[in-house]
Amino acid sequence: MSLTPDQFRKVGMGVAPSPTPFLTPRPERRRADPRGIDWNSGRLDRDREVNVQVLLRCRPSSDDEQRLNVPKVITCNEQKREVTVSQNLANKQVDKVFTFDKVFGPKAQQRSIYDQAISPIVNEVLEGFNCTVFAYGQTGTGKTYTMEGGMRNKGGDLPAEAGVIPRAVRQIFDILEAQNADYSMKVTFLELYNEEITDLLAPEDCSRSLEERQKKPVSLMEDGKGCVILRGLEEEVVYSANEIYSLLERGASRRRTADTLLNKRSSRSHSVFTITIHVKEATVGNEELIKCGKLNLVDLAGSENISRSGSREGRAREAGEINKSLLTLGRVINALVEHSLHVPYRDSKLTRLLRDSLGGKTKTCIIATISPSAHCLEETLSTLDYAYRAKNIKNKPEANQKVAKAVLLKDLYVEIERMKQDVRAAREKNGVYIPHERYSQDEAEKKAKNEKIEKLEIDINISEKQVDKFRELYLSEQEEKLNIESELKDCKINLESCNNALQDLQENYRTTISVLKEKEFVISKLMHSGERTEIQLAHHVPFSAYQNPIVSETLNMQTETCLLEHAKELRANLQNASEDITALFSKIDQKSRLETENQGMLLTFGSQLDQSLKDLHKTILGSVSQQQQHLRCMEEHACSFLASKCDATQVLESKIKKMAQTYTLGLTTLKELADSMQMKASSDLEQIKSKMLSHIGGVENFVKTATLEAKDVLFDIQNSLDGQKQLLAFSAQQQEEGLRRTLVSAQVFSRVTLDFFNDLNHRASKLMTVVEENQLDKSHHLATFEKMFKEGTARDEQQAMENIAAILANLTAKRTAMVSEASRNIQDISLQEKKILLQEMFSMQKVSADAMEELNIHNEKVKSHFFEDTFSSAEVRATMENCLQE
Ligand code: ADP
Ligand code: MG
Repeated sequence: MSLTPDQFRKVGMGVAPSPTPFLTPRPERRRADPRGIDWNSGRLDRDREVNVQVLLRCRPSSDDEQRLNVPKVITCNEQKREVTVSQNLANKQVDKVFTFDKVFGPKAQQRSIYDQAISPIVNEVLEGFNCTVFAYGQTGTGKTYTMEGGMRNKGGDLPAEAGVIPRAVRQIFDILEAQNADYSMKVTFLELYNEEITDLLAPEDCSRSLEERQKKPVSLMEDGKGCVILRGLEEEVVYSANEIYSLLERGASRRRTADTLLNKRSSRSHSVFTITIHVKEATVGNEELIKCGKLNLVDLAGSENISRSGSREGRAREAGEINKSLLTLGRVINALVEHSLHVPYRDSKLTRLLRDSLGGKTKTCIIATISPSAHCLEETLSTLDYAYRAKNIKNKPEANQKVAKAVLLKDLYVEIERMKQDVRAAREKNGVYIPHERYSQDEAEKKAKNEKIEKLEIDINISEKQVDKFRELYLSEQEEKLNIESELKDCKINLESCNNALQDLQENYRTTISVLKEKEFVISKLMHSGERTEIQLAHHVPFSAYQNPIVSETLNMQTETCLLEHAKELRANLQNASEDITALFSKIDQKSRLETENQGMLLTFGSQLDQSLKDLHKTILGSVSQQQQHLRCMEEHACSFLASKCDATQVLESKIKKMAQTYTLGLTTLKELADSMQMKASSDLEQIKSKMLSHIGGVENFVKTATLEAKDVLFDIQNSLDGQKQLLAFSAQQQEEGLRRTLVSAQVFSRVTLDFFNDLNHRASKLMTVVEENQLDKSHHLATFEKMFKEGTARDEQQAMENIAAILANLTAKRTAMVSEASRNIQDISLQEKKILLQEMFSMQKVSADAMEELNIHNEKVKSHFFEDTFSSAEVRATMENCLQE
């Protein structure tokens, strides 16, 4: 099955939401959809950010402005893409310059704006992107002119003042037709006024008044997947540009009608025209892919409404929150430019509708329109500021994911099935029927509930955000805690190693002390033995016997001093170690103190988190219970409604019974009536028969009188015929005479033409003789000239010098040859001319002879014709006479 347009008609109907919602699902969500294949996953430009494109257009001065000679304060420089506003502040000329992506001055034509700025956007739509074009500016600066302009001429061509919409439509159709593509196209056209959406393409319902129709708003819903659905919006499937033009004209005229009724409604309302295109791509394997693109063309409310409602918000609200959407659009732009965390998309329907066009995946272009006159200076400046700010919004355009055709078809089938069910229910009348007030009441309740749900959703969103924040805080705290714990562990390990070192040191200390003690003991012993040796020396002990102990004593002294020094060093070391240990202990104390503090903090934070989570739980529980209550209420409503329905059906049944009775009664009376009528008819028939008989007698009488009258008439006719016969004879005679006269004149004419041709012949022969004479004359002249020339040259030759005589002779010979050749040529030419002339003369003579011959033949023919005519007229006369006599 192919997707050629005429396969399906009218996809969206009434309250039916279409499978492809108004704003295409945002691609990042759709990517998760396992049904489709992301063919663009390799795209490099996924993260490429593109600024919103901002164009500026200044309209020409209006007739009124020109007449009143209003000064101009705007100058546009299209090359430099600059707009200059000249202001007079305190008698000083102050110029403000703004730069935009493109600038179009008062002379710019619709066509050039479209070709330069919009045409590339439309090409991208056909590549599968979603694109949006906004027109922003003060009322009367040409937003509608730029977007819509003139729609079409009678011939179907675009007029010069056609705006963006008709041109885009024409381009799309041209391209698709040129590609010979399989495609389907849907359009929607809506108006947003007073935060209510109206369908400008809804079928005309003459039975209802305009106000009633406007009371049936289109509702905006979220499908839970981040897409916006417009319930009750008509999606028209279109097959030709002309069809779109008529739809547009219908919508635009509806807008205009509302204008006259509601005090310039159009300057306070926004209109959104959307074209959705599905194009079949080349097949990949067995799968046929469908590419989808969408173009939103938005004509915003007059920008003066922002400032007005800004200054008098109270009154604006009184008038029904006229400009909530425009205000929110401004706020959204501000938030996007300032990179705020919260962008208030949800605050108005316009921003919800166009969410994707502002900082989303759509390519966006804003056309800011201004007036050149000094009267509008304030508004112009605010528009320029606004547009200049909007330049900084960044979008991340991304082509829509291509969908396999089978998936799309499945969606369509589901949609068709659902619509069939609707139709069946409507036909069989077994759907739900409720009184009108009840319906509106239910709708109002539903709306209120929806709003409440939206509010709750917002609350939930906010609390979710808070929870997220707390969770992040908690996580960071825990991280810190873990850090501290690891530090603590390190410290403990440090401490242990220090303790170990201390113990080692103490051990060392103990061993050294014991060694020292031993040494001291040895020293004291040695000292004792020294005393003894002295005594022994005094008692003349042989030297050899005492030699050893003396050496050992000196050695002992050395070691002693050494040991003492060691001991001193050791003591100092030990003192240092003990100082270190005390420092360590103090540090450990500090650590433990910190730890306890941290633990306390953690505990308080945990309790806080607990509290907030409990609060959140409570609010969620509250909202859930509220929702449950609402659901219960709805259930009750439904029950009561069902009960009332039951009653109604009973009443209906009794009514039907009554009707059946009356029906049988009617049938019997009808039968009686038929019988009586039959009787009447038979009697009438008899009457008619007798009347007919009397009529026949009358007719016979009438016929008799009529034959008598006819005889009289015939006699009269005979008389008139005789008269006519005489007349005819007379006219035949006259004809004969006329013919004879024409014969005579023809003869005269032929004689004259004969004379003429003879004359012509004569003259031609004369001409020939003249030409011959001329020829002879010429040749004679030439001969004399040649002779004279020869003589002259001979004379010259003789006069010339002897040494150049030979050369001259040569030259003259050449010249004579040339001259003779030239004369020969001339003679040839004249001979040829003569020949041609002769030929011409001959052909002329021949032609004249032919003509004469033809004339003679013609004469003969005329004569014979004349005789034939006279004969035939005589015959005709005879036959006519016969006829008349008959
Ligand atoms: P808006 O929609 O902004 O209120 P309109 O589009 O209705 O303004 O324009 C107001 C008037 O100015 C219209 O009559 C329109 O024809 C005229 N106009 C606006 N722009 C131009 C232009 N560029 N060239 C000629 N006429 C223009
Ligand atoms: Mg307008």
